[in-house]
Amino acid sequence: MTIVDSHCHVHEYDEKEIQEFRGIRIVGVSLDIESSVKTLELAKKFDNIDPFVGFHPWYLHRTINRLEELRELIMSGSFAGIGEVGVDARFARSPIKEQMRVFTQICQLSIEVNLPLNVHALGEWGNVISICNRLGVRSMLLHWYTGPVELLKVIEDSGYFISINPTVVIQQRQMRILDKASPEILLTESDGPYRYRELSLSPSEIHGLIKTIAKVKGVDEEYMVAQIYKNYLRFLRG
Ligand SMILES: [Zn+2]
Repeated sequence: MTIVDSHCHVHEYDEKEIQEFRGIRIVGVSLDIESSVKTLELAKKFDNIDPFVGFHPWYLHRTINRLEELRELIMSGSFAGIGEVGVDARFARSPIKEQMRVFTQICQLSIEVNLPLNVHALGEWGNVISICNRLGVRSMLLHWYTGPVELLKVIEDSGYFISINPTVVIQQRQMRILDKASPEILLTESDGPYRYRELSLSPSEIHGLIKTIAKVKGVDEEYMVAQIYKNYLRFLRG
C-alpha cells in the first residue's frame, strides 16, 4: 500500500529528514531554477521522490527573467511534472496579468511535453480551471483546494484533481470541500515544511490525514489509500 504526498517542498528538507519519509511517494515541487535542480538531485538519491520543476507565483518577480531556463528544464525530459506554478490573487507581488501570462505559457509547455501540472491558484480557482480547459491541459492538480464547492463538478468533468491538506481538521471550508468531493478527484498532500496555525506540516502527517479522509468519506483506510494511489497514477500519466 503506497501513500502519497502530492505536494511537498522536499528541497527544503535535509537528506536525514527525507530518509524518514521512505515509504511515502512524494511529489517534490519547486519554486525557482535552483530548487528545481535540487529537487532533481534529490530524486536521483531517493526513489520515492517524483521531481517537479516550477516557478512559484510568490517569487515570480525575481524569477520572471529566467523563463528561458525554466523552459529548458521542462523540455529536458528529466522531470515527472511541472509545479509549483500558478497564480495568486492575494499574496504574490507580480501583477495578476503578468502571472496569468506566464501561467498560460507554462500550460502550453505542459501540453507540448505531456506533463501534469501541480498548481497554486489561491483566489483564482475558476480562472485557472478555465485557462487549463481552454488550452487543453490534460492533467492538473489544484493543490490545497479551498475554492468554491460548485467548481468540484467542473474539476471532476475535466479529469482534474484537488489535494487535501492536514489542515482540513481546522479549516472548515476545506472540510466542506472534502465532504462534497468525489473520491475519484482526491489526492493527499502536506505542503511541508510549512506551519499553519498550530499545525506543523510534513509528509509524516499523511497517515493521520488518510484516517480523517476515510472517516469523512465513510470508507475504510485501505480503500482510501488504494483509491488515492490510483488517482495519483492517473495524475502522473496525464
Ligand atoms: Zn507549496
